[in-house]
Amino acid sequence: MDTKLKVLVLMLFVLVSAMVFVTVAFTGLTIFEEPEEEDFHFVNINQFQELSLSEEPRESFKYPRFNNNTITYSLSGINDSQKRQRMQDALKELEKEVGEFIFVEVPDYQEADIKILFERRNNLRKIGEANLKLNILNEVSNAEIRMINVVEYCHYHNTETHELLHVFGFEHNSRTIMDPHGDNCYKLTDRGSRKYIEHLQFIYSDGLRGVEHSDIPMYNINELI
Ligand SMILES: [Zn+2]
Repeated sequence: MDTKLKVLVLMLFVLVSAMVFVTVAFTGLTIFEEPEEEDFHFVNINQFQELSLSEEPRESFKYPRFNNNTITYSLSGINDSQKRQRMQDALKELEKEVGEFIFVEVPDYQEADIKILFERRNNLRKIGEANLKLNILNEVSNAEIRMINVVEYCHYHNTETHELLHVFGFEHNSRTIMDPHGDNCYKLTDRGSRKYIEHLQFIYSDGLRGVEHSDIPMYNINELI
């Protein structure tokens, strides 16, 4: 190959590499929740951290996770003490059962890792909505939960726990707390749902505790790349 051709091939390689990097780095994932239908999934422009593509994702980022074991949350929207209490109960239960991270309430809604909005909407079909962004390291960079109409007859915070697990990266999974239909009153501590607790223990202890349940459907940025 003469020098000109070599330079041309090199330039082409650099250009293609740059395009691949930009595509990958700006890829995020957003989920929305609709209880009666399939969730809508679409790719969303996302914040990203400087990272070389040649760097292998670390083992701890095999599964989506918040990048810290102190996870902040903030509540906003209508001031219904019962609705807020149910959400607080869901957070408390998840924290206690998993035992690997803590939830801390912060006053600044925009600064919180999990932004929880209580809405009053004339949409009886929709019970909640979860919106999650994953960065290139599979870290949850932004998580929003909108509580619309919880299934109150369950007398258990199943809708709240379900939405919370979405922002921890879990997809729908029939006959568990992640069942797409929110009216079955499944609980986090049910036999069919305990694997969520064990899997979160595994993720947030970096594999030291808990049980790895790689069969649980999770959103995963690595599958999009
Ligand atoms: Zn859902």
